[in-house]
Amino acid sequence: MSAAAEVLSTVAPRPRCSDLPSCPVCADSMVAAEASAYVSDHVISYLWTCDNCGYGFVTKHAVKQRIVRN
Ligand SMILES: [Zn+2]
Repeated sequence: MSAAAEVLSTVAPRPRCSDLPSCPVCADSMVAAEASAYVSDHVISYLWTCDNCGYGFVTKHAVKQRIVRN
């Protein structure tokens, strides 16, 4: 890896598992969103439902790339 070329330092880090939310009620980790919806061209909301206690909540995420609609 010593020959690695310099790369742009502005590349955003990719989402990791640590970005997944946890339940505000029981702190259980969310595995996958129940559903997603586009709030606008640049914002996506996710619906999460806790498998442990059944609590549901929504998170919103900004997306940098425009999503091509069908
Ligand atoms: Zn919960």
